[in-house]
Amino acid sequence: MRGKLIVIAGPSGVGKGTVVREIIRLQKNCRVSISATTRKPRTGEVNGQHYYFITKQEFEDKIRNKQMLEYEQYNGNYYGTPYEYTEKNLEAGFNVILEIEVKGALNVKKMYPQALLIFLKSPSFAELKKRLIYRGTEGPEEVEQRMQVARWEMIQAEKFDILLTNDDVGLVAKKIIDIINRSSVSIKG
Ligand code: 5GP
Repeated sequence: MRGKLIVIAGPSGVGKGTVVREIIRLQKNCRVSISATTRKPRTGEVNGQHYYFITKQEFEDKIRNKQMLEYEQYNGNYYGTPYEYTEKNLEAGFNVILEIEVKGALNVKKMYPQALLIFLKSPSFAELKKRLIYRGTEGPEEVEQRMQVARWEMIQAEKFDILLTNDDVGLVAKKIIDIINRSSVSIKG
């Protein structure tokens, strides 16, 4: 049986990565897609593990050659999901998780109406800002820009199948695993 496509979106800093790592640790039938980006690697980020770090030219070639399942620009950089990995793994029966921003998530739903769209929100804007500052990967200007985008992203939450507040990583991961295992079609609520 073909696997399910699960999209986890939500503002930068909400903790999507931590939740996804926990799901992958607990659920052997789930795989996570590694995105391509033109953003420069942060300290400690490894090519092919966190992202495929490529140039703008390479990214635009991939768009032209239809190698991207979806892509978007976020704060001046391209981010996209390589088509082949996701398709191959869905075909092999694995559930594939995409951890992406909100516009890309909504685009995926247009192409894969059966995809399950999960929106992760932070308990509050203040908490989100605190997490972005605490993680220390962006300077004050970039934090402000990400908060601006987050305000718009939060308004899109109602378009998602599932809305969850990330106040406890372990609990949220378990809720998502339950949802993945019981849903054959997308659920509202
Ligand atoms: P960051 O620079 O913090 O790694 O990522 C910025 C935003 O881009 C995050 O919200 C992240 O989830 C999102 N993102 C990462 N990969 C992709 C992707 O392949 N496609 C889309 N649309 N967004 C992505």
